[in-house]
Amino acid sequence: MSTRPLILPADSHNAQLLSNVHPADWINPRPADRYNLVVIGAGSAGLITAALAAGLGAKVALVERHLMGGDCLNVGCVPSKSLIRAARTITEARSAEQFGLHMPASAEVDFGAVMERMRRIRSQISREDSALRYRDELGVDVFLGDARFTDSDTVEVDGTSLRFRKAVIATGARAALPEIEGLEEAGYLTNESVFELTERPNRLGVIGSGPIGAELAQAFRRLGCEVTVLGRARHILPREDADAAQIVQRRFEHEGIRLIHGCKVEKIDVGETGKRIQLTTEDRKTEILEADAVLVSVGRTPNVEGLNLEGIGVDYDNRRGVHVNDYLQTTNPRIYAAGDIAMAWKFTHAADAAAKIAVQNALFLRTQKLSSLVMPWCTYTDPEVAHVGLYEHEAAKLGIELSTFQVSLKDVNRAVTDSEEEGFVKVHVKKGSDRILGATIVASHAGEMISEVTLAMVNKLGLGAILNTIHPYPTQAEALKRAAGAYARTRATPRVSRFLERFMALRR
Ligand SMILES: Cc1cc2nc3c(=O)[nH]c(=O)nc-3n(C[C@H](O)[C@H](O)[C@H](O)COP(=O)(O)OP(=O)(O)OC[C@H]3O[C@@H](n4cnc5c(N)ncnc54)[C@H](O)[C@@H]3O)c2cc1C
Repeated sequence: MSTRPLILPADSHNAQLLSNVHPADWINPRPADRYNLVVIGAGSAGLITAALAAGLGAKVALVERHLMGGDCLNVGCVPSKSLIRAARTITEARSAEQFGLHMPASAEVDFGAVMERMRRIRSQISREDSALRYRDELGVDVFLGDARFTDSDTVEVDGTSLRFRKAVIATGARAALPEIEGLEEAGYLTNESVFELTERPNRLGVIGSGPIGAELAQAFRRLGCEVTVLGRARHILPREDADAAQIVQRRFEHEGIRLIHGCKVEKIDVGETGKRIQLTTEDRKTEILEADAVLVSVGRTPNVEGLNLEGIGVDYDNRRGVHVNDYLQTTNPRIYAAGDIAMAWKFTHAADAAAKIAVQNALFLRTQKLSSLVMPWCTYTDPEVAHVGLYEHEAAKLGIELSTFQVSLKDVNRAVTDSEEEGFVKVHVKKGSDRILGATIVASHAGEMISEVTLAMVNKLGLGAILNTIHPYPTQAEALKRAAGAYARTRATPRVSRFLERFMALRR
């Protein structure tokens, strides 16, 4: 048996979580003679792969060395979104004056209670991913322990051999660590430790301004920390369009987050009054910043180590992870990979979609392709930034001409009534048609709104279909209908307009 992981603090919520995702008294089953599928890693990708395959009648072994549920449940989506929700509520309460509600001056954030709520929610959700559920309800052989390939048809877990016809590597990724002098000695937080906090760090330095850094920076600021974000790029959320990122950035600054762009953190040491972060700014000046805690969020490193991938002919590298073709097949045709270990899209819903592809291709005919997916994503800052399909710069690179229809939330009544006017909906169509090629939404609940565009893209429905769809009034999703309306107006050629005017004149 593997050693039992520790999740801090050791309270009743974490005890409940552990009893679901790594039970202390777990006894690994006696392995089957041969499995249809052995799945390594019980994060989003591995869990869905195992559940689907078992549901289709396959004999499946699922191996997890740490916590079932992987990053998403334990140290990713679930705890971060729980904190973000608490932070949003607190911010709304603080801005309640504008809605006519007077808050007592003594109102303050109970950081410990916010973290406890997060732990309670996480333990509640963990049942879904529990070892017992996978064993008893889904019929999967769950092995807790470290997996390693010993042959092209065998995985070993704590001395037990699992023979398979096909295997799926779903070992995920972990926080990448930048090379910064003194980082190790000074101590730092990553997504793996930040949710263990029970006391608020007064000053938080966030290294990295991508989605994880941005989401947590805003949440911690709203929970009362002084936050500085140190990014190498020219704006936060560097993968998103600058106009979308600008809106979030303005909100961050308004909320008192200090943003330092284009900088490089050189060194960290511990002084008398906290950690001292030494950085070189964009204009090559040296600055020292003090913080009580440093959160590192500079990207993800794939968990490729210890699997003996070399031994079984599976190509990989330490940046991109396991190399797969469009069918998610590795360079060893018996072995597939899904999720963060193999994909640029590092999202739970992407891992889920990839799992479906891997199951189909591994167990049945090799027909499903990763490139056929239309993948949306969302960064859960406030406002949220959601995107699907092509960005303008990508279309330009591909030589595709676009027409873009943009609607400001200032022109959408529901955004005005909610005082949530900072944002926009931007839809790109193929020039001369209403075929949607991409969209970016910046809005309070952009993540909820983007699915309408994704649905349209997947089903090849154009902006015309969105225009013909009745949207309840007043909703912020009406912004999409307005974008469709803007498209429709471009179709009204001067000739058609002249004809209509004459026709109406005759009917007066
Ligand atoms: C802070 C944060 C917030 C996030 N928020 C969101 C969000 O809001 N929405 C979203 O879509 N995505 C979000 N993500 C990304 C999401 O969590 C990941 O994309 C998703 O968890 C990937 O799933 P996976 O199964 O590929 O990998 P993982 O979840 O990492 O699971 C891999 C599992 O494999 C196990 N493992 C590794 N090696 C071995 C081995 N040798 N033997 C046995 N087991 C092994 C690991 O212990 C782990 O449990 C967030 C990530 C972070 C860090």
